[in-house]
Amino acid sequence: MKRKTQPAPEPVVSQEILENAKKSVYADKIQRVEKCSVCGAECAPNSVENLCWVCRRLKISAWRDNDSQISAQE
Ligand SMILES: [Zn+2]
Repeated sequence: MKRKTQPAPEPVVSQEILENAKKSVYADKIQRVEKCSVCGAECAPNSVENLCWVCRRLKISAWRDNDSQISAQE
């Protein structure tokens, strides 16, 4: 059995449409991904404070620490 080189199949989607699709996806990513205001990493999805998930967790844990300190002083 000899392997015959098959002619390349005609692309179903034209190159132009493919390029446009790639560009639109890329632009969409640029618009969606915001930088963390603290460390500059990618923001967590649904972040309203421009914080990545790491800084968000740090901030939340800091709040908890403050709360526990305040309640401990009382
Ligand atoms: Zn961050």
